[in-house]
Amino acid sequence: MQDYRLDPPEADEFIPHCPVCGRECDTLYIDARGEVAGCDRCISLEDAYEYLYEE
Ligand SMILES: [Zn+2]
Repeated sequence: MQDYRLDPPEADEFIPHCPVCGRECDTLYIDARGEVAGCDRCISLEDAYEYLYEE
């Protein structure tokens, strides 16, 4: 364990983390309501027809 009072993690403050999965990310995906839907690490693209209609 690091003692952050003596050694503050300055660099970490500038690394964006996804509010959905918590991982470091470069890209956030915003949905139609303006809310974060996820990031490039936790969003996956699916074929809509296969996703909705395939058993
Ligand atoms: Zn994410």
